[in-house]
Amino acid sequence: MIYADNAATTKMSQVALDAMIPILESNWGNASSLYSFGQQAKDALEDARQRIAVCLGAQPREIIFTSGGSEADNQAIVSAARAGARKGKKHIISSAFEHHAVLHALKALEQQGFEVQLLDVGEAGTVTPDQVEAAIRPDTCLVTLMFANNEIGTILPIAQIGEVCKAHKVPFHTDAVQAVGHIPVDVVAQNIDMLSLSAHKFHGPKGIGVLYVRKGMPLTSLIEGGAQERGKRAGTENIAEIVSMAAALEDACANMERNANHLIPLRNRLIEGLSSIPYSALNGDAEHRLPGNVNFCFEGIEGESLLLLLDDKGICASSGSACTSGSLDPSHVLLAIGRPHEVAHGSLRLSLSEYNTAEEVEQIIAAVTEVVEYLRGMSPLWKAKCAGKVPFVLPE
Ligand SMILES: *Cc1c(COP(=O)(O)O)cnc(C)c1O
Repeated sequence: MIYADNAATTKMSQVALDAMIPILESNWGNASSLYSFGQQAKDALEDARQRIAVCLGAQPREIIFTSGGSEADNQAIVSAARAGARKGKKHIISSAFEHHAVLHALKALEQQGFEVQLLDVGEAGTVTPDQVEAAIRPDTCLVTLMFANNEIGTILPIAQIGEVCKAHKVPFHTDAVQAVGHIPVDVVAQNIDMLSLSAHKFHGPKGIGVLYVRKGMPLTSLIEGGAQERGKRAGTENIAEIVSMAAALEDACANMERNANHLIPLRNRLIEGLSSIPYSALNGDAEHRLPGNVNFCFEGIEGESLLLLLDDKGICASSGSACTSGSLDPSHVLLAIGRPHEVAHGSLRLSLSEYNTAEEVEQIIAAVTEVVEYLRGMSPLWKAKCAGKVPFVLPE
């Protein structure tokens, strides 16, 4: 099997697995218990919090453990909205190509009377600090923009956007789920007030993540109960996964440069190889891009058929379009960067990790080239285009 869907989830690293097992076997106490066995669990929890804080440039008390990226996004957005509403501020700035965890949380707030302004991301798939500055109003209570996009891999100028928010005293949250562990993240240097991350996107376990909240920022709990996480997130802590996440993050940060040096040539070769397929186009900016992300549109095919045929060849990839989940809507991200519906349906995302090899990349290029040609050969629409009866959308 060739696994090229690391933006969806990643394989756990050996260090992450090795960190988890001893906790499950012998340090499985409840961190809230007063006897020393419970306190040993508490020590492991606080040690993990400290190590994660160091990786982000944060203070340990600014780290809240959550069930993952989605929960962290929801808590950040709801917290800023509640704090804003108390001061009569109900305007929120975000973008059209955020993850659904952000977009759907914002939609819920809209129904509660908040005004959500989604900035355009243009053809390159980014947001500029000037766009943010122009959108900020006296009643803006939150700017939430992703650090890097999960579909097209584009990286936003987060430090500069953070600077604009800071100058206007508007809280700034970033969904950094695709960035943390892959590109440098420093909450202080990059002027970030709140940040979401998720362990399973950097070779840690699923179901665990972090919300970083700058000291002094108001925080609302989504889950009421015990006093865990300083009363901001109730529920017995998942210490095995938290410790495993800390190990995975330290490993990812320590090897970030080496991994990028391995990945960037693979990514560029994949882009070069797939570009030679006629009527294809790379989605998103070629330069400001995650080291492992490749996303293409191929005119005249359906992404789902492409995925199924690649699966037959042992290749795991992803398509932007959501037909598999019962909807025929193409990816909101591809529509946001201006791809027409027809072309957005023929998209393919390949997201590499440090476990991928140059040989696998060559196999992917050969397989995708063959499958695209095969599917086009079966398509009446494609034949009509080739006969000049229907115009092509993408340039040859
Ligand atoms: C995966 C992902 C999420 C969701 O994280 P979970 O831990 O799976 O809930 C949120 N935002 C982005 C950008 C993601 O890639």
